[in-house]
Amino acid sequence: MQMYSESDVDISCLTDRQVTVLGYGSQGRAHALNLKDSGFDVVVGLRPSGASWAVAEADGLTVQEPNEAVRGAAIVMFLTPDMVQKSLYLSVVDNIDNGALLLFAHGFAIHYGQVEPRADLDVALIAPKGPGGLVRRQYEEGHGVPCLVAIHQDATGNALKTALAYSAGIGGARAGVIETTFAEETETDLFGEQAVLCGGATELVVAGFETLVEAGYQPEVAYYEVMHELKLIVDLLHEGGLRKMHKFISDTAAWGDMISGPRVVDDASRAAMKAILTDIQDGTFARNWIAENENGMPEFKRMMQADLDHPIEKVGADLRGRMDWLAED
Ligand code: NAD
Ligand code: MG
Repeated sequence: MQMYSESDVDISCLTDRQVTVLGYGSQGRAHALNLKDSGFDVVVGLRPSGASWAVAEADGLTVQEPNEAVRGAAIVMFLTPDMVQKSLYLSVVDNIDNGALLLFAHGFAIHYGQVEPRADLDVALIAPKGPGGLVRRQYEEGHGVPCLVAIHQDATGNALKTALAYSAGIGGARAGVIETTFAEETETDLFGEQAVLCGGATELVVAGFETLVEAGYQPEVAYYEVMHELKLIVDLLHEGGLRKMHKFISDTAAWGDMISGPRVVDDASRAAMKAILTDIQDGTFARNWIAENENGMPEFKRMMQADLDHPIEKVGADLRGRMDWLAED
């Protein structure tokens, strides 16, 4: 494994050079503000009609339309939703300087051939391993969120050096930057969010809730048990791995964990994980997701509404409203 830290980075290659961030959502806001605080010359590229324009300006940033914002930039970072990156690239490509670095925070558009970059451009990935809010907060507190770096195209011979300078600008080099490939980042990221983090975890919670409620237990008690307390366990895992969790839970909980966990995540679940990974690797998932976007996202909207209409959401909102120490944006 190759890991870079701050001492491996020379940010002087970006002195007096413009860094353009396209998009001002979760990642875009964090990157743009961190880069600005690191002394970089930052321009944010946004659609004039979009709601983020006023937010970025209020944050003290220079905001321009995308095809203006990319002019003269040494780096153009794509922090819009993955599905708009293709059309956005095509709309700005003619204004991007020769030899500039195209950066991505997720490899989807490049790995699945949505964006086919001009041959004179460097193309790299700086992917923070955390949501934008955390990228900003850790930076402000003097830390950083670790990043992945990958190089897709090195036209100038400086792609890695420039990408690492950017990672230092957002604070990532403080925590370490691990070298990967676009294929590895894209496929593991999609697998993680589908099988474990978002898909797997929420389905596990909802199935646990339904099992208890169908057996006649109170929904409020079920909610506390399978949704609310999940955070306490995840925090222990995040801070100290399986060891720390085992240290803090009771022996009864640990015994139940080891006896019953494999009954839930059994051979069928593992086979499903392999099938999910195969769909990601052979492009099936990407093809279907791109088609869903082109069709106006009917399935996306239907399934999202079903999630939001689930009884666990009603119970959860009521109970969270009574815990004023829980901040809900
Ligand atoms: P987001 O949905 O929070 O923000 C998208 C931004 O893009 C908004 O400011 C929106 O106004 C703007 N935008 C949309 N269409 C545009 C267009 N045509 N032209 C210009 N701006 C446009 O997105 P996000 O979650 O920050 O994701 C950005 C990238 O970062 C994606 O590639 C994503 O995979 C990656 N990423 C996200 C996270 C995360 O935690 N959210 C983590 C790592 C990587
Ligand atoms: Mg789900």
